[in-house]
Amino acid sequence: GHLRPQVEPLAPRDVFIAVKTTKKFHRARLDLLLETWISRHKEMTFIFTDGEDEALARRMGSVVNTNCSAAHSRQALSCKMAVEYDHFIESGRKWFCHVDDDNYVNARALLRLLASYPHTQDVYLGKPSLDRPIQATERVGENKLRPVHFWFATGGAGFCISRGLALKMSPWASGGHFMSTAERIRLPDDCTVGYIVEALLGVPLTRSGLFHSHLENLQQVPPSELHQQVTLSYGMFENKRNAVHIKGPFSVEADPSRWGN
Ligand code: UDP
Ligand code: MN
Repeated sequence: GHLRPQVEPLAPRDVFIAVKTTKKFHRARLDLLLETWISRHKEMTFIFTDGEDEALARRMGSVVNTNCSAAHSRQALSCKMAVEYDHFIESGRKWFCHVDDDNYVNARALLRLLASYPHTQDVYLGKPSLDRPIQATERVGENKLRPVHFWFATGGAGFCISRGLALKMSPWASGGHFMSTAERIRLPDDCTVGYIVEALLGVPLTRSGLFHSHLENLQQVPPSELHQQVTLSYGMFENKRNAVHIKGPFSVEADPSRWGN
């Protein structure tokens, strides 16, 4: 049993799930999400992309064109995270969660997990992508470099931040600040979030085993515990197809997100 006592009831409107995508994945990845978990949780879900798509806008009201570059560069990705953050603050919601477009979100499990933490306190929830803190170099002042180490939640597994903590992140995350903070350590967007939270604000990452990226072996998630997981993913890992083991009627082509039929 992973069930924690609930501290406050949560409604779908209390949670802001930002899905990061890019125009070339609208058909390849986003359609699958719109046919599965997003279709049942449109109230919670906001899509952040980098190009106009009328077909997508017709299916889903909350699509944000970030106008960020469609490159897979550090700058383009932190540009999107910056826009996600600003929209969350603007929304007034209690929890910010970020996921990739190859994540499956189990909204019921997510609400249950978040309801066990107070949103007014400092909460940074997710799964570390490394088994030790990342070692980085932060630029302080003109030409000064300083070693810094911190844990961060891997963006590919999804992570969540309470409103209380998100507000404290504002000096380094709001407006254009997220991008300049990312440049200070020259690391990707999810590392930059960890840098702001752990290194600058001194708030430790709360580890959860309920978030999963395709960089772990997803066949190892026990089928009997799948329904308790908060996020799942699918993709390639060490050149092999990596997905959870669930039998179902769809072919791999129709549904690449699970394994076995
Ligand atoms: N992505 C993006 N711009 C790009 C490439 C990818 O915004 O040019 C997004 C993509 O939609 C996904 C995330 O970044 O949400 C991670 O991409 P991907 O799964 O392809 O790479 P991974 O890091 O998991 O190998
Ligand atoms: Mn991925």
